[in-house]
Amino acid sequence: MRIKRIAKATLSVLLLFVMTVSAVGCGAAPQPKPKQWMSYDYFDTYVTFYDYSKDGDDAFRQRRDTVAGVIKYYHELFDIYEPHEGVAGLYEINSKAGVSAVTVDEELIDFLVYAKEMYALTDGAVNIAMGSLLSLWHEYREGGVAIPSYKELTARAEHCDIDSIVIDREASTVMITDPEASLDVGAIGKGYAVEMAAKSLLALGATSCVVDGGGNLRTIGTKPDGKGWVTAITNPRAPAGADFSHKVILSDSSMATSGDYQRYYVVDGVRYHHIIDGETLMPAREFSSVSVMCESAALADALSTALFVTSYEDGLRLVEGLDGVEALWIFSDGEMKKTAGMK
Ligand code: AMP
Ligand code: MG
Repeated sequence: MRIKRIAKATLSVLLLFVMTVSAVGCGAAPQPKPKQWMSYDYFDTYVTFYDYSKDGDDAFRQRRDTVAGVIKYYHELFDIYEPHEGVAGLYEINSKAGVSAVTVDEELIDFLVYAKEMYALTDGAVNIAMGSLLSLWHEYREGGVAIPSYKELTARAEHCDIDSIVIDREASTVMITDPEASLDVGAIGKGYAVEMAAKSLLALGATSCVVDGGGNLRTIGTKPDGKGWVTAITNPRAPAGADFSHKVILSDSSMATSGDYQRYYVVDGVRYHHIIDGETLMPAREFSSVSVMCESAALADALSTALFVTSYEDGLRLVEGLDGVEALWIFSDGEMKKTAGMK
């Protein structure tokens, strides 16, 4: 757990560093430092809000409180490890699997419908009904000494059917019909929450800010000089001191990265990470990271996980069929490929 937290903190600090450097470097006029809010209370990661607007402290506080409120709300809805008082979220839905439907907020219905759309869009590569399989890997990862057997994996894979999530929008209920199935929204939840925070900021008229949900970056507008924020996609296989593989400029857009270096353990010299291919039931091996840039932080998050478990050829076809989506693949051997717009 501790190792995972340190790795995630490193990723966020790296992004912050690059954004700060960009604000004063490259011959640009010096920029005012953004006002900031940072929390480690949500999504098991750092969530940071950078506000560059110059409209005063009250306006900043309103935006900050809005971001904090939205992130807390979705954190509690999506938490599968513990219940939160007065919240009917995934914890309750999972605990009532095969037993009864749960009455939930419209916001959770919207999210689950979106997650099902992502399943369809990615041909099942990103599947929030994989909780049963993911929790098995989670247990072994925490143990740190062995990997699950093929028999255990295939037994869990029997209980990952997306159609076992039954959503009734009229009645505002959700039920998992398979008692052994469960939801895990780790692949989409953070990006979705960040996007909802961004939507609320836009509704308040925000024009110059960044929400960073553990590396799920969402930018609104531009910096005060009219330029975008420069961020870097790290090459996980680069030697120390040379780890920025690619710099990207973001304005009114998002970036998410899925990598094999964020949560993993090693058995017999082989690295087993946390992004699982639903077909092989094993951690995907083709890439060390995949990054996606597009307007929505929710889409970027869902697609980066999906592309990570999809072959390069199929992933490229998927991205090229979508408007305004760019991707960068870093293969396990360090080779890098990207779409034309990933500048
Ligand atoms: P991300 O860092 O956004 O790629 O999300 C990784 C997290 O998503 C993991 O820690 C799991 O909780 C979950 N996950 C892993 N593989 C999948 C998958 N194929 N479909 C859906 N969720 C997944
Ligand atoms: Mg993701």
